[in-house]
Amino acid sequence: MSAQPEGPTTAAEVSAPDLRPKFITESERVRECRPGPVHGAAFLAAPQPMLLVGRDGVIVGANAAARALLHGEGTGPLVGRVAADLLDLGSDPRTQDAYREVLRGRQAPLGRTRRLKHAAGHSVWVRITVSPVPGAEVVLLSLNDISAHRDLQAGLRHLQTHDPVTRLPNRALFFERLTGALEAGAYEGTGATGRVGLCYLDLDGFKAVNDTLGHHVGDRLLAAVAERLTHCADLARHATGAPLVARLGGDEFALLMEDSTGTEQLADLAETVLEALREPFDLSGQLLSVSASIGVVERDVADASPMGLMQAADTTLYWAKADGKARWTLFDPERNARRVTRQALSSGLRPAVERDEFVLAYQPLVRLEDGGLRGVEALVRWRHPEFGLLTPNRFIALAEEDGSIVQLGRWVLETACRQARAWQLAHPDVAPVFVSVNVAVRQVWDSDLVADVARILAETGLPAELLQLELTESAVMGSTGRPLRALQDLSDMGVRIAIDDFGTGYSNLAYLSRLPVSVLKLDGAFVRGFEDGASAPTEPADALIVEAMVQLAHRLGLTVTAECVETLDQADRLRRIGCDTGQGYLYSRPVAAERISELLAERR
Ligand code: C2E
Ligand code: MG
Ligand code: MG
Repeated sequence: MSAQPEGPTTAAEVSAPDLRPKFITESERVRECRPGPVHGAAFLAAPQPMLLVGRDGVIVGANAAARALLHGEGTGPLVGRVAADLLDLGSDPRTQDAYREVLRGRQAPLGRTRRLKHAAGHSVWVRITVSPVPGAEVVLLSLNDISAHRDLQAGLRHLQTHDPVTRLPNRALFFERLTGALEAGAYEGTGATGRVGLCYLDLDGFKAVNDTLGHHVGDRLLAAVAERLTHCADLARHATGAPLVARLGGDEFALLMEDSTGTEQLADLAETVLEALREPFDLSGQLLSVSASIGVVERDVADASPMGLMQAADTTLYWAKADGKARWTLFDPERNARRVTRQALSSGLRPAVERDEFVLAYQPLVRLEDGGLRGVEALVRWRHPEFGLLTPNRFIALAEEDGSIVQLGRWVLETACRQARAWQLAHPDVAPVFVSVNVAVRQVWDSDLVADVARILAETGLPAELLQLELTESAVMGSTGRPLRALQDLSDMGVRIAIDDFGTGYSNLAYLSRLPVSVLKLDGAFVRGFEDGASAPTEPADALIVEAMVQLAHRLGLTVTAECVETLDQADRLRRIGCDTGQGYLYSRPVAAERISELLAERR
């Protein structure tokens, strides 16, 4: 680097300038315009690197600072060289055109940022401004070394896009890359696969590590996991590069595979990751084992958006956790559709009660001795405007979760009681049928069931003896306080309480007999156990158990109803065992109220 003038060209460099700073007045301009030795000296000594370039693009003058920047050992003098070559102003056509226009004196100043080789050998970022010099046959190129600024910017960007704990790209950079991958993949004919894949990973039990061993150890574990993930990504490197490993926050990581070839490739990657994490981590002598759950999504970029892909990955990760952790799970569109339906159903429940979208079906409860109709069970259905007729297993649990069961249950109770009363009035000559209504646990807890029942009986005029309420074992087990009082009040009113699906829980009969319960409904599983038929040499174990149960129930003053009676053989055996009532497809499926009316009319 030399600040000495360049030998024979010095005269040209000194005499050339018609340098008019923009801030000078018109009268001053006349004075300033006159070329003179002062201007030349100022140009030469200015700390900012400057070049003067003739209309032909050849450098005609360079100051000391410019030479210090650009004139390295082995490079010839600056004067006489083509500026565009030296400063890379000809490589892209737009810059080339704009530069030419300035040279011809037809355009305002032009600015470009270029990475140049410094005379000392290292590279520098330079802001080049090309300004016309009116009245002179030259243009002025001033060069600004902005390397420090660029370095600072790059440093800032690195900080903004990387996670300090693991040094991995962070969420921001991950989304930038993901968005970029989807946009790039959308252009056809680039030779890429047009697909993208994602492994979304969450450590199992990381919170426990943090809580018991401290954040310090937690951080070191995360850094060690990051290292192994990076190694896995390296192993999975393919033609267009290795998958991007990012920390999305907490103990969540992602591996983004651009140009993926299919689910198999992503599954392989997930398997490699699980394998890599299997080996315990040695954190300064402390051995720690962790596992991870991974959600895997792979799809055509045409069908993907960053948010959609992340949502799918999130759902899939949740499945991996729910399915038992320490595994990878592949996104399953059908399973997702069920989840979405569930959500749609859940949000539609409350308004559906108001819109009257529910209907009741009634299933006969038959005396086993003579096949006579004793009562009916009211079973709710949802006439869903979009999904059609839905059975209760699709929505009762959801209604219990969000509490809408209280409102729905009240509607069921009211409708069933009104119907039972209507049958009683319409068929005065036959023994009236009772109606059995299912009651959810939350109805006992979250609403005043006793008041509801009393009001509905009064409003419909249905005698309390014609109402039976079915509760599950779990609802009545351990009943103390409010629920027990409710059961007692209902029973005192004359309403019968039945235990539904009996035998699936853990209740014991002796305990139940102390509650105000009068009917046991044996779960269908017991009746199904009868399949072997009467010809079997020994009675199947189920039959023996049922027989013992029925006898005990009778001794405790309870009557027994068998659910899911489907064959004559089952009905026979149940009758011989002493079971009182049967319900099932053998007698009738759940049917509309009108069909029950017909049955009653036939009995006359
Ligand atoms: P659940 O109270 O045990 O009702 C009996 C279920 O068994 C009914 O299913 C019925 O259609 C079915 N079933 C009857 N006979 C047979 C048979 O012979 N074979 C077979 N395989 N199944 C038979 P459904 O209508 O789908 O109701 C399912 C469950 O939904 C009910 O079981 C009950 O727990 C609940 N549920 C129905 N309606 C209501 C309601 O209004 N409120 C509440 N909280 N739960 C209800
Ligand atoms: Mg029931
Ligand atoms: Mg049942």
